[in-house]
Amino acid sequence: MGKGCKKVYITTPIYYVNDVPHIGHAYTTVIADALAIYSRMAGLDTFFLTGTDEHGQKIEQAAKQRGKTPQEYADEISSKFKNLWDYFDITYDKFIRTTDDYHKIGVQKAFEKMYEKGDIYKGTYKGHYCISCETFFTDTQIVDGELCPDCGKVTSIVEEESYFFKLSKYQDKLLQWYKENEKCILPKTRRNEVMRFVEGGLEDLSITRTSFDWGVKLPDSVNDPKHVMYVWLDALMNYITALGYGTTEDKMDYWPARVHLIGKDILRFHAIYWPAFLMSLELPLPKHIAAHGWWTRNGEKMSKSKGNVINPKEVADAYGLENFRYFMLREVPFGGDGDFSQKALMDRINSDLGNDLGNLLNRLIGMSGKYNEGKVSSKNTAKYYQAELDEVNASMEKLEPLLFEMQIHRYLEELWKPLSVANKAIDKYQPWNLMKEGKIEEALALNGLIANILAKVAIMLHPVMPKTTQKIATSLGFEINFESYEKLFKEQGLLKDFTIEKIPPLFPRIEEKLLKEPEAPKPEPKAKEDKKEETGGVITIDQFFQTELKIGTIVEAEEVPKSKKLLKLKVDLGEEKPRQIIAGIKEWYSPESLVGTQACVVANLKPAKLMGMLSEGMLLAAKDENGLSLLRPENPKKAGTKVS
Ligand SMILES: [Zn+2]
Repeated sequence: MGKGCKKVYITTPIYYVNDVPHIGHAYTTVIADALAIYSRMAGLDTFFLTGTDEHGQKIEQAAKQRGKTPQEYADEISSKFKNLWDYFDITYDKFIRTTDDYHKIGVQKAFEKMYEKGDIYKGTYKGHYCISCETFFTDTQIVDGELCPDCGKVTSIVEEESYFFKLSKYQDKLLQWYKENEKCILPKTRRNEVMRFVEGGLEDLSITRTSFDWGVKLPDSVNDPKHVMYVWLDALMNYITALGYGTTEDKMDYWPARVHLIGKDILRFHAIYWPAFLMSLELPLPKHIAAHGWWTRNGEKMSKSKGNVINPKEVADAYGLENFRYFMLREVPFGGDGDFSQKALMDRINSDLGNDLGNLLNRLIGMSGKYNEGKVSSKNTAKYYQAELDEVNASMEKLEPLLFEMQIHRYLEELWKPLSVANKAIDKYQPWNLMKEGKIEEALALNGLIANILAKVAIMLHPVMPKTTQKIATSLGFEINFESYEKLFKEQGLLKDFTIEKIPPLFPRIEEKLLKEPEAPKPEPKAKEDKKEETGGVITIDQFFQTELKIGTIVEAEEVPKSKKLLKLKVDLGEEKPRQIIAGIKEWYSPESLVGTQACVVANLKPAKLMGMLSEGMLLAAKDENGLSLLRPENPKKAGTKVS
């Protein structure tokens, strides 16, 4: 860690209360917890924040569906998160809720400051509005250019009065920040993505809504009571209102954050909007924004419909909370996607924890009992085993930077090297033979080496497995705290002489799966985006042939009343009767021009209803800035001819 960083501020995202906690939430929070425990152990003044994000239209709607007030609903879900973190021994210093009064006041102060500065102005927000869902959608969200992605009804372009934040004003400053701070966004590949996005140009950001109520009102000085703040503005401000921004200001000396831990889905908000807001508020920018990937289960995306969502508490109950913490942090390269399987978890427990760590302690307990009544001394360790100590210290020196740059899987990998040094030393020097040969000093010094390696590893593993490592330390006659961290890790010192305390095996072997596996999912066609996530964009030839493409002859075409984009077609695919296909091509084709022509049709698409009309297929088309063209055979083909 850099000198002078006496205060360390670590945050998780505040979790949105329209969801119950799953493994992704647990993963982010455990990483943050490990960083916080480490920082405290290293003597740094640490503040660790987590909490819940409770405003917005989705919460308002979810509460209504359940016959609750938004506040009642938010209270309920927020406490689920809080209970889970308590169960996970998460050592947060503060749990913020965006419905807390101090937060609302702080957000209003921030709005006021940006407004007075001229960074916020009033304008009109134009978007696709679905009347039955009472929701605005963006261009990328809506289907076929005008249909509501939630209910399928036609949306209309509605203009709404809105306040805007001058995001465009900060484009150059943001780019400068990314360029000058190579590690501001971790992993670094994500920084490149963000830079490319910002280089493409930033539009001002609509930050208020009048279409719902459940949010923070604008400050009195702005005097516009029909507006509430957009949920992202409100939510991001939590990182400073939790420190007293706009109210007590009592903890603002923790700012800027050492690291904001987030999932990759909310990177844009944290890496673009948040630093721009901070620039506007004239506050320093966070040191790292670290975005992690997704979790799958047995290689499959988790979803409620598949019934394979992981309940973190169930896993922790079955396999041990700290074992699960270790697994999550060791298994996944930070930033990449991780896969949960009971087999992988069992392997980590039996192999890394049981064989490498637990057995080493058992061997030491056994050998020290047999050779010297349990007494262990570091006295002659350096005399006989300096090479091993050097190797251990070399690994130890690499650890801290790995941790604070979120390379936690590599941190744990490196931390396991000293254990392998110890296990190899036992095999190499064979202390039982040393004892037989009368080389007692050498044999006892080897016990000293093993004890010191175990002690150093326990200290550095403490942030991940706090209770287990204290047990190891107790067995080795010390406690894990700032003093032992300084002496054994920082100064590379050795343990005082002690008598080992026998403890039961820490990681009993797990022979079979402890949780029921979810039932095999029914083979139903997956949603478009699911498929893309899972395969990383590459498909096999078999997957390609799952899509049935055919040449169809358009036999009828008519306009869909009240729709600017849709045409209703009858397409002959060589079947008993023509299929009805609703296509969003009205802007480019008149009905008359289509009748009698051919097009390529996706024939095995699940039928869908558009504006109440059944659509039994999809036409293939290509669109660029010059317009849209249907894909057609070069020469007429028999209706129903397969395309491959
Ligand atoms: Zn709708």
